[in-house]
Amino acid sequence: MNTDNNQNHRSISVVVPVYNEEDNLKEFIRRTMLVLDGLSNPSELILVDDGSRDSSPSIIKEASDQNQGRITGVFFNRNYGQHTAVIAGFAQSRGDIVVTLDADLQNPPEEIPKLIAKAGEGYDVVGSVRMGRQDTAFRRIFSWMINQVTAKATGVEMTDYGCMLRAYSRPVIDAILQCPERSTFIPVLANTFANRTIEIDVEHAERPAGDSKYSVFKLINLQFDLLTSMTTFPLRILSFIGAVISCLGIGFGIFLLVVRIFAGPEWAAQGVFTLFAILFIFIGAQFVAMGLIGEYIGRIYTETRGRPRYFVRTRVGGSDLPELSASGANVKK
Ligand code: UDP
Ligand code: MG
Repeated sequence: MNTDNNQNHRSISVVVPVYNEEDNLKEFIRRTMLVLDGLSNPSELILVDDGSRDSSPSIIKEASDQNQGRITGVFFNRNYGQHTAVIAGFAQSRGDIVVTLDADLQNPPEEIPKLIAKAGEGYDVVGSVRMGRQDTAFRRIFSWMINQVTAKATGVEMTDYGCMLRAYSRPVIDAILQCPERSTFIPVLANTFANRTIEIDVEHAERPAGDSKYSVFKLINLQFDLLTSMTTFPLRILSFIGAVISCLGIGFGIFLLVVRIFAGPEWAAQGVFTLFAILFIFIGAQFVAMGLIGEYIGRIYTETRGRPRYFVRTRVGGSDLPELSASGANVKK
């Protein structure tokens, strides 16, 4: 599809969310521009300020002034979260290949050429796996859980969903931009629209300055965003639990009946156990009913989200037939 020749002319957009990163930002911009200047492709750097309260916005303005036409700054009025910031950057981007990474230098900008090279081979999504991950044990365990749950729930196998050092092809970016929903988790969303995906190993560095912008609460929020935006699977768990409880109730009831017949009435504790059996059956039934309601709510959610039902990547050929008018009748030429 892409000859080696025109691969070098594919333009690159680098999209970076920035939230209170004044300590790292200058160094980040310097290193990233160095890498981009070393490429033969035309490129741009888009810094999206996610409502920072420190001097990050002015650093971005300054960098943009010094690199006219190369660095774009986008500024939010308040903090909307990393993924929203990245989407805003996507909307601004013009490149054929869009690379995302964090501003905290944990994802070395020097890895960008590797991603671009892979994307140039025709992959829609180039993910990355952090080698020698430099995060606290707590974060690593949390990430591991997220990765497991996400991979299972979405059916898209990727080793490391948390690493934002990624490259996306233009069609995937366009598809993502057609999704107007509020809660997004970009790596997963991208995978739903991707044709070919691949993962490569990248370095991971310690945060040189500042703290992670994710508190435990924000992490839990993110996890919920991820689960609810991608699946209605948790709702089904309700029905499943209900069915299990009901079956246990019925089983218990049968067991009581059998014991009653063979061991005599003393065993039944004057009907207390029987009541329990009946209770179980009804509790289970309630769960099943909730699951059913949940299933409808899930569908309402999917509908209101207004995602495109499908995404046409390319089309070939065409038809000589006359175009149809809006009513479907042939238009006279
Ligand atoms: N970030 C953001 N908005 C937020 C939180 C984080 O734009 O509300 C940015 C942050 O500036 C950084 C990236 O998202 O560029 C990743 O954040 P961080 O390094 O704190 O996350 P971690 O590495 O701990 O996952
Ligand atoms: Mg980080």
